[in-house]
Amino acid sequence: MARSERQMKLHEHQAKDVFADAGIPTPASRLAGTADAAVAAADEIGYPVAIKAQVQVGGRGKAGGIELVESADEAREAAERIIGMDLKGLHVEDVLVEEAVDFVNELYIGVTMDRNEGRPVAMVSTRGGVNIEEVAAEDPGAIAREHVDPAFGLHPYQARRAVYDAGVDHEVAGDVASILTTLYDLWDDRDATETEINPLMVTADDEVIAADAVMNVDEDALFRHPDLAEMEDRSAADDLEAKANEYGFDYVRLSGNVGIIGNGAGLVMTTLDLVDYYGGSPANFLDIGGGAKAERVANALDMVFSDENVDSVVFNIFGGITRGDEVAKGINAALEQFDELPKPVVVRLAGTNAEAGMEILNTDLVEVQGTLEGAVQRAVARAEEVDQ
Ligand code: GDP
Ligand code: MN
Repeated sequence: MARSERQMKLHEHQAKDVFADAGIPTPASRLAGTADAAVAAADEIGYPVAIKAQVQVGGRGKAGGIELVESADEAREAAERIIGMDLKGLHVEDVLVEEAVDFVNELYIGVTMDRNEGRPVAMVSTRGGVNIEEVAAEDPGAIAREHVDPAFGLHPYQARRAVYDAGVDHEVAGDVASILTTLYDLWDDRDATETEINPLMVTADDEVIAADAVMNVDEDALFRHPDLAEMEDRSAADDLEAKANEYGFDYVRLSGNVGIIGNGAGLVMTTLDLVDYYGGSPANFLDIGGGAKAERVANALDMVFSDENVDSVVFNIFGGITRGDEVAKGINAALEQFDELPKPVVVRLAGTNAEAGMEILNTDLVEVQGTLEGAVQRAVARAEEVDQ
């Protein structure tokens, strides 16, 4: 079972700042949160510019999140459309206004961990600009790969070999190899899980420039990189924590994709540990307190369903003073507002009258599991299905 990584994804503009600091050429750009600011930035940079949605997801171009514009009017129109739009489920707060690059070729370069080999791998392809996973699937030979011994780093000859194997024009091969080396060093020094430039654009006068930038960082290593930790987008977590306050729940947002609801801190902690144990990654800690009244259950569901990181939910309720059948009635009442749940929910009841409770649960909407281990494993499996 593939273990899901806890990683922090930088925005394109943040990754570009990190790359530029390391000496990688990037286009002139400015971040803008309003259409006015976008036009001012575009006027200063000079037309044409690219207006690019800042959300941590690939394929923004195809999804309508990137526009090339030639004038202030067009810049305003594009910024007004893109800022505030919903792009693949993510809300666009800012756009990057960037000097348009006049390119003749689009390359792909990237560094990640090859789990099968147990070593990092540096990759180069002349088929950049498009979704590299598609290239990898239909034509794996189109991506040159060099595995790296982390004790020695990416040797210059390895970087050159990858670049030549990929078929990069010799006029720019040296520059591309040197950028690949920098990309590897960043991956290593900054505890990244992934560093990627796609496209790395080549201009008619043989300049090489990073038109896009991806950098994901191992969340468990963030304490070593306070400058990166500071870049974390807190807005979604803050919104959810405010909601939890309003409902009177103990809630902490985490970085995984399995939502967890329980009553009692110990029970919730145990569920969290088990999600981790079974190869999943908890999206939150959510303790709804004693009992499981319909309103509290409905509020808890509202919280996990509105967290875009959540792919599945495990509901672990202990019936003590509030008996299991009462708990089940509360859950069923909360479920009445739904014809269909937006995300799969697996329920496990324990304690007084648990069996009776499980029998009356609405299994058209939720999946019932008799044991905690079973419930957690199912929730982890359902989350993985969604993730694929
Ligand atoms: P992604 O789709 O989210 O990966 O966003 P990218 O930043 O990779 O942009 C997607 C595509 O938009 C690129 O492959 C280019 O074809 C185009 N694009 C982005 N920036 C520029 C630019 O400055 N100039 C030109 N001509 N095209 C650009
Ligand atoms: Mn890209």
